This record gives sequence, structure tokens and C-alpha cells, in this order.
Amino acid sequence: MIPGAFSYHRPANLADAVKLLSDLGEDARPLAGGHSLVPMMKLRLASPAHLVDLHGIAGLKGIRRDGNSLVIGAMTTQHELLVSEEIARSVPILQEAALLIADPQVRYRGTIGGNVANGDPGNDMPALMMTLGAAYRLEGPGGAREVAAADFYQGAYFTALEPGEILTAISLPVPAAGHGHAYEKLKRKVGDYATAAAAVVLTMSAGKVATCVVGLTNLHETPLLAADAAKAVIGTSLDAAALKQAAAAAEAIMSPAADARGPVEYRKHVGGIMVARALQRAASRAR
Ligand SMILES: Cc1cc2nc3c(=O)[nH]c(=O)nc-3n(C[C@H](O)[C@H](O)[C@H](O)COP(=O)(O)OP(=O)(O)OC[C@H]3O[C@@H](n4cnc5c(N)ncnc54)[C@H](O)[C@@H]3O)c2cc1C
Repeated sequence: MIPGAFSYHRPANLADAVKLLSDLGEDARPLAGGHSLVPMMKLRLASPAHLVDLHGIAGLKGIRRDGNSLVIGAMTTQHELLVSEEIARSVPILQEAALLIADPQVRYRGTIGGNVANGDPGNDMPALMMTLGAAYRLEGPGGAREVAAADFYQGAYFTALEPGEILTAISLPVPAAGHGHAYEKLKRKVGDYATAAAAVVLTMSAGKVATCVVGLTNLHETPLLAADAAKAVIGTSLDAAALKQAAAAAEAIMSPAADARGPVEYRKHVGGIMVARALQRAASRAR
């Protein structure tokens, strides 16, 4: 339970942080809220020789509306998402999902940037970011670039982040007014990671689904977009047959690990149920 020795750095600006990370190379890791990295270090599953704390860098925090987009600084905490009036107004699914992460203690420290950069299949925000069509702004020794959330996740703990790069902000298009949304998460107990979870954002027109996106958490080594599940309900009134078809289409792309949360077949089965429930609840909220 005691981490290995490491050096602690607290740069005052982004350029210094990028330089430190690229000079120190693979032995260095950015430190955000520390609620994934520090437990990994205590278990000796990670032993970085250098931690580059991002808390001293101005400009990495905050939530602002930029036209039809919402821009969220990487160091914005999960608690700050929960109390944001802008998020309550424009992207309420973010608050629904944030409230299902861990407990208040973790949410006061844990950041959205750390959650999406971590690459753990159990993190809740990545599938949600894919569902919302978000993009990540990355700043590295070669300058800044933007990567779509849907292209960011390459495997468990493998992402598109290059050595020395820092995720500075997330931008996402504000969903259409009157959209329906739901994040359904099955967990063994309060504070646990998902056994299976599904995010849905949809619009309805004359009682039928007009547009729909479905995302899946902890049902594969990366977050997934369930495109065929969404296709199965578009144009329907979400009758029992359409829901069944959507759940089956989602289950067909799931390949969860068998672990303490249950065997593969069980997790796929409850994953399908999360999809059907999220679709129904999202539709009930659409105007
Ligand atoms: C008891 C417990 C229960 C939890 N339950 C859940 C849960 O149900 N769902 C869930 O989603 N999460 C859960 N978490 C994890 C929590 O949400 C973490 O806070 C989050 O995963 C990581 O955010 P962080 O700011 O703490 O990042 P850190 O732990 O500081 O960093 C995580 C990783 O991301 C990298 N990193 C961090 N920020 C950046 C950045 N800006 N740019 C580039 N790389 C960066 C770090 O180098 C590290 O590799 C739980 C944690 C605990 C302790």
C-alpha cells in the first residue's frame, strides 16, 4: 500500500508541463485528481519516477459555452460538473453520469480530464463523451491537436495520447433542444465501477425516434458506440420488438472481461438490459 519513490513537479504553466513531460520521457506521468493514478501506484501497478502535478496551471479549469459547443477544462472536477448550471441546462446527462461515479470524496478530487485520459474501461465518462460526439484537445511538444473521443481509445489503458502530451480541454456540441438522455449503470454497490452501463442521447419526432446514439461502458476493453443498436430503434416508437433488437445488436459487440463483477454472459445480458432501459428513459424525457 506504499507507492515507490518518485519526484514531484508542480509546473506553473502548460508550456513548462509539456517540456517537463517530454524531457522526463516515459518515467513521468501527469497527476490530476490522483484518484486512479495514486491507487495504482499504491498497488505497484504503476511506478512513475516523476509526477507532474497539473494543479498549478491556470486555464485548465472551467466550463464555458462557445456558440453551440460546451468547452470543459481538463482539470474541472466531477463535483464542479455536478454544480454547473450551464451543464444542467445544456447537457444534463453529464450530471446524471457524474453522480454515479464513486462517492463525494472521489468526485471532489477526480477530474474529467483524468477520467477520460486514464483509459480504464471502467471509467464512465469515455463512453459518454463518444455518445455526445466530444473531441479532446491535446497539447504536446509538437503543438496542439484535436482528437475525436471516438478515435481516442485503442485498448485498455492505451489511448491516442503521445508521450509528453497533456489533455487540456474537452469540447462537445450541445445536444438539440428537447433531446432525451439517460445513463443507466448497474453496479454491485454504491461507489463501484459499472458491471455494465449504457448512455443514450436521442430525439423524438411524432412519437418516433428521429436520431439516436448509444454508448457502452465496461463491456469491452474500450468504450464502444453501439451503432447497430441505435439504428434498430430509429423510426420506431420503441416498441418491445425494437427494444429487443437494440439490446441484441448491442450485446453482439460486447466482449467484457470475466471478473468479480460476473462472468461474460451475465455482463453481456445485463448490458443489453441497460441499453433497453436507457432507451426507454431517454425517450420518456424527450420533448
Ligand atoms: C473508490 C473509487 C471508486 C471509483 N469509482 C469510479 C466509477 O465508478 N467510475 C469512474 O469513472 N471512475 C471511478 N473512479 C475513478 C475516479 O473517477 C478518478 O478520479 C478518475 O478515473 C481519474 O481522474 P483523476 O483526476 O483522479 O486522474 P489521475 O488519477 O490523476 O490520473 C489518471 C490517469 O490519467 C492521466 N492524466 C490525468 N489527467 C491528465 C491530463 N489532463 N492529460 C493527460 N493525462 C492525464 C494520469 O497520468 C493517469 O495516468 C473511482 C475511484 C476511486 C478511488
